[in-house]
Amino acid sequence: MSRPETDDIPSLKEKWKDYLQENSLNTTQQRETIVEEFLACKGHVSTDDLLENVRGENKKIGYATVYRTLKLLVEAGLAHARDFGDGQTRYEVASDHHDHLICSKCGLVLEFEDDEIEELQDKVAQRLGGFKIVQHRLELFGLCPKEQGIEGGLCPNETVSEG
Ligand SMILES: [Zn+2]
Ligand SMILES: [Zn+2]
Repeated sequence: MSRPETDDIPSLKEKWKDYLQENSLNTTQQRETIVEEFLACKGHVSTDDLLENVRGENKKIGYATVYRTLKLLVEAGLAHARDFGDGQTRYEVASDHHDHLICSKCGLVLEFEDDEIEELQDKVAQRLGGFKIVQHRLELFGLCPKEQGIEGGLCPNETVSEG
């Protein structure tokens, strides 16, 4: 029950419109370009990553506009802000719930969802005074086999790309 519902792109766009309206914000061409580009992003993008994508569409868009739009997207519930411990906030499109496993040395980020962990979180919250979880973030930090220095140890990144 702690999982947010899946939002697809059209319904996210609706949500964005509603948010702008409720907050009496007017939209600009630049802002819309940023939103479009962001929703097309896979994975976890930094402000700089998104700026680069956006500049492909419109060279005039500046860092501050991208930064502010991302903040609005988080507030509007279209984006989740992530902190993977490298000092850079990353953003991802709010869709199916998942958690993250991060290699603190090479920076690889794996996404996972484990029913047992999800249930366990609900149980713990229940036990601690009858909380009902409405949202959670789980980030596990570790070292991939390669960064552990295991002989022949591969980063899952490499195993995947070798097919
Ligand atoms: Zn979870
Ligand atoms: Zn993710």
